[in-house]
Amino acid sequence: MLLQQLFGHGPASRADLARSSGLTRVTVSELVGELLAEGLVNELGTPVESRVGKPPTLVGLVPDAKHILAIDLSVDEQIVGAVLNLAGEVITRHAEPLAGRRGDEAVEAVRAFAADLIKGATSPLLGVGVASPGVVSPEGVVVDAPNLGWRDVKLAETLGSALGQPVYVANDANVAVLGEFTFGGGAEGGLMLIRLSTGVGAGLVLGGNLLHGHGGAAGEIGHVQVDPDGEACACGRRGCLETFLAVPRLRRLISAGGADQVLDRAAHQLATALAPVVATLNLGELVLSGPLDLVEPLARIAAPLIRERVMPVSAEQFVVRATTLGDDGVLVGATGLVLAAELGVS
Ligand SMILES: [Zn+2]
Repeated sequence: MLLQQLFGHGPASRADLARSSGLTRVTVSELVGELLAEGLVNELGTPVESRVGKPPTLVGLVPDAKHILAIDLSVDEQIVGAVLNLAGEVITRHAEPLAGRRGDEAVEAVRAFAADLIKGATSPLLGVGVASPGVVSPEGVVVDAPNLGWRDVKLAETLGSALGQPVYVANDANVAVLGEFTFGGGAEGGLMLIRLSTGVGAGLVLGGNLLHGHGGAAGEIGHVQVDPDGEACACGRRGCLETFLAVPRLRRLISAGGADQVLDRAAHQLATALAPVVATLNLGELVLSGPLDLVEPLARIAAPLIRERVMPVSAEQFVVRATTLGDDGVLVGATGLVLAAELGVS
């Protein structure tokens, strides 16, 4: 609770912490003492506008007290990873081609990659966060990730015992929305992130919690049919949202000519598919994650289109924007996965 307060609202005095947590000052002092001993927080001196009497000493989180390893497996044919500190700042990063490795070979490639990067951490490691494409169970089992040839792969368990670290695995869009929520200024009241990559996925944070759904597949909006007469999709149907918005497809259409027309059509499909979701959940924010040259114009065009499809009460103060985290969104989100599990902060 105290870490959460310091993480979310910055440095505070022990008295402030007692007030915000409802714990007694004695308990707060004891807990702060433990956190000081662990090196997770430090004393920052007194605030400038000190009141009458003994000035309070502020305590704050130490960003480099621990490091976190984050790995992104959602980038086409690559393993991307970074060591980050508790503030989500990148210390070292690395990428390597997957070179066609699939199944067990891909698991081994991720293990070796992680072991190498851990050597680059200059502080004790808090844990490892992995963003994987496909459906991932809360226990970190990759239920189905066709691009990596994984079915029921116990990734968290396998990597955890091989690396001797706590490992957390989640779907890439879920990880990205967690990153947006924790580090990107995501609003408390309903945030949906649409991730455009080789496929199209979404993640939702409602009431401060990541939505998993009954089968762990919340946010799988890419294969919702938006045009029955549209192009054939990899899933066997026609005109799925993914056939309009997947990055390779958009790039292909744009290179054939007419970026404005292509993005306009894609934004219309996006608005048609998402307006019911925006209205149903009364979302506060819709964030588009992916290549900025695509997601920035899409967000701009789709915003008024969604607003005019929903009631004024849903449209009011509803924001559509591109991610503020750029390409690091998924890595930063994987950091959030570890922070939430190990320190209880988000
Ligand atoms: Zn489909």
